[in-house]
Amino acid sequence: MAEVVGSIPTVSTIFSLSVVQVERRGLVAGMDVKDLIRKLVALQKIDVELYEYKRELRETPILLDEIKAVFDAKKARFHTLEKKAQDLERARKAKELDLKSKEEDILKANNGLMLLKTNKEYQARLFEIENMKADKSKFEEEVLKFMDESEKNIQDIAKEKAIVDAEEQKYLAEKNKVDGVINGLKDKVAVVDVRRKEAMAGMDAHTLSVYEKVVENRDGSAVVPLVNNTCGGCFMLQPPQVLNKIRMYTEVVRCDMCTRFLYIEDEL
Ligand SMILES: [Zn+2]
Repeated sequence: MAEVVGSIPTVSTIFSLSVVQVERRGLVAGMDVKDLIRKLVALQKIDVELYEYKRELRETPILLDEIKAVFDAKKARFHTLEKKAQDLERARKAKELDLKSKEEDILKANNGLMLLKTNKEYQARLFEIENMKADKSKFEEEVLKFMDESEKNIQDIAKEKAIVDAEEQKYLAEKNKVDGVINGLKDKVAVVDVRRKEAMAGMDAHTLSVYEKVVENRDGSAVVPLVNNTCGGCFMLQPPQVLNKIRMYTEVVRCDMCTRFLYIEDEL
């Protein structure tokens, strides 16, 4: 915002300046800082629990995926066998039609033999009939082959059906178990959410919004104690002025490196 030279600051510019200063220096206006840090620590404890439940909620269904994949693979194999049964049936029917038509041809040719005038024609027709008979037996053999294959396929289907059924039972039982675990976790999350809201009571909106950002970026860990003068989150050594700033309890101090809120455990 452009500043008008020589103008008298209005109430609103004084107010917005003070907000900027508060945010820049991390001061929390009108609040007991130590109490705020205690509240942050309590909120953090709840969020550790919450993050654990949420992690379990993400990971639990993965256990089921493996069993589901095995079940799907067996089911796919079963469907392939069923498809093969249909193909075999179709091929057998087609071959049976060929066979029937060949039999009719042979019958027709046999009946026509008497009408032939010369011995040469008669011999030629006999030769044709022999060829047709050879085709007929080839078709018969093929029909039998399809029937054998169908029979074997039916046995395979029965075996595979038993496997698929067993795998389905296993999957459903596991799913039931996993659903139970998930529902239990959801109930726990709901309970923790209530506690979380209670823990947030009395905290200022700015600190809370910063906390929410850090907790999200740092995988659930936003408030850490100092451990041997290092940040309990990223283990960066904190300079003496940071330690002093924490001990003054006039502002909430965060680690320059990882942005987590810092506190001294023994002093709370
Ligand atoms: Zn840090």
